Amino acid sequence: MGEVLLQDLWFHQVEGVEVENAVSEGQLVTVRARTGAEHAACPACGTLSSRVHSRYVRQLADSAVGGRRVLIELQVSRFRCGERACPQATFAEQVAGLTFRHGRRSTGLQTVLEHLAVMLAGRAGSRLSQTLAAGVSRSTLLRLIRRLPKPETT
Ligand SMILES: [Zn+2]
Repeated sequence: MGEVLLQDLWFHQVEGVEVENAVSEGQLVTVRARTGAEHAACPACGTLSSRVHSRYVRQLADSAVGGRRVLIELQVSRFRCGERACPQATFAEQVAGLTFRHGRRSTGLQTVLEHLAVMLAGRAGSRLSQTLAAGVSRSTLLRLIRRLPKPETT
């Protein structure tokens, strides 16, 4: 049995993300990581771009570790779309399995909370989320349910 690497703990399902360090302070664990993608596809037109416009840090709440809240500080690139007719001048890279557009939570935590919202809406769900050290309000849970894709009806 080997030592557990931070990389495996947080990003075993994610490609191209490198952990810099993890700092624990009180009830919060902050994981600093960066992406290494050299290009990304524009969400509007699909054109691949390798022209980095800027880099910035996204903060993503993640599932708790040892009962402590986890915040991932992920440095990502913003690319410039090279397609002249495209309305999207720049766009942020997304990391499959970790980030989604405008999301302030990791995909993993979002999925956990969506399940929780569907099974235990309202106060019970909100209480359980506090216990899981990823506390969200009742209204947030309801919002999550509303955003879920509607089940297909035949
Ligand atoms: Zn584009």
